[in-house]
Amino acid sequence: MNEQPATRQNLMGLDQQGLEAFFLDMGEKRFRARQVMQWIHQHGVLDFDSMTNLGKALRSRLAEVAEVRAPRVILRKQSDDGTRKWLLQLDGGGAVETVFIPESDRGTLCVSSQVGCALDCSFCSTAQQGLSRNMSSAEIISQLWLVRQELLAETGDSRAISNVVLMGMGEPLLNFNQVLPALRLMLDDFAYGLSKRRVTLSTAGVVPAMDRLREECDVALAVSLHAPDDPLRDELVPINRKFPVAELMDACRRYVRDRNHKTHVTFEYVMLDGVNDQPEQARALVKLLQGVPAKVNLIPFNPFPGTVYRCSPADVIARFQDILHHHGVRTITRRTRGDDIDAACGQLVGRVNGRARRIRRASGAAGVATA
Ligand code: SAH
Repeated sequence: MNEQPATRQNLMGLDQQGLEAFFLDMGEKRFRARQVMQWIHQHGVLDFDSMTNLGKALRSRLAEVAEVRAPRVILRKQSDDGTRKWLLQLDGGGAVETVFIPESDRGTLCVSSQVGCALDCSFCSTAQQGLSRNMSSAEIISQLWLVRQELLAETGDSRAISNVVLMGMGEPLLNFNQVLPALRLMLDDFAYGLSKRRVTLSTAGVVPAMDRLREECDVALAVSLHAPDDPLRDELVPINRKFPVAELMDACRRYVRDRNHKTHVTFEYVMLDGVNDQPEQARALVKLLQGVPAKVNLIPFNPFPGTVYRCSPADVIARFQDILHHHGVRTITRRTRGDDIDAACGQLVGRVNGRARRIRRASGAAGVATA
């Protein structure tokens, strides 16, 4: 009988640095990292025995100490508009959702980074759920691994996912250490090879972690702003009490300062009827964004049971957008996608049971980026 260590190291979530450390630790050569990364993420191989450019002895040692494992899919749904949703079972009982949004010129995968969320944004039903736990880097990158494999099997297209947005459940910058290797795998030519422009991290504004992201892995940045001033933002996005608007905007300016590939910060602004959608608030937003290379995404509010908010009427959203346009701020209004399968922004729940869902429809807010 083979003696197996209590827990085998899951290689799914290790980036180049992590895999190299793992192989060096085994007394193996550094280049094994590249080989195994390609097997896992490009060829979709989970079984060491199929990794034919590794020697037989190494393959059986790996099978003893390591594994390559993705969460199990417990539910798949497809919307009339083509948006698709996967519900994934995580170790320990939690579940998270991943959403794929096909468009004519791109395919965007919206991934989760935490089970639930610790931030208490008043218009997002994840707040009711609280934070269960951080996802591991393996669980985060598995979302891309799984969906890529399924789309490849169906269509033969390995590039169906052209963009990734960290806009699912959770606050990615409060799980920095696990998000970072997952981001690095998305960008690595031996894994998914996406450009930094096509990977977007969305944050409610964890200012110190924004600076760390800029230094360590400066992918495209989206900021959930939702209000142009501190009193209102304190109410809607309570982390604002810790990192107020002025500090947040300074961090945004720093983020794109060196430019390179970073042309702008995307600002998300959920349209709440009578709360943040007035012309004077649009003008305040224009003022706030002066000197910041910005694009604004107006998001129609997706209601959920028990919420006090309503979505702004279409003409109010149009007027708000006109004011921004008039002052030269690039603005789009996001189309709601996948709401018939509860896959739209603010509708991700990570719940399996339909009854539990009706009683307590907690949400993880999948941002469906179209910019
Ligand atoms: N915590 C990160 C990542 C989540 S992104 C962040 O806040 O950016 C999810 C996006 O959907 C955020 O912009 C969020 O503010 C928005 N959102 C949350 N609930 C929503 C709802 N009910 N309707 C529309 N958008 C919502």
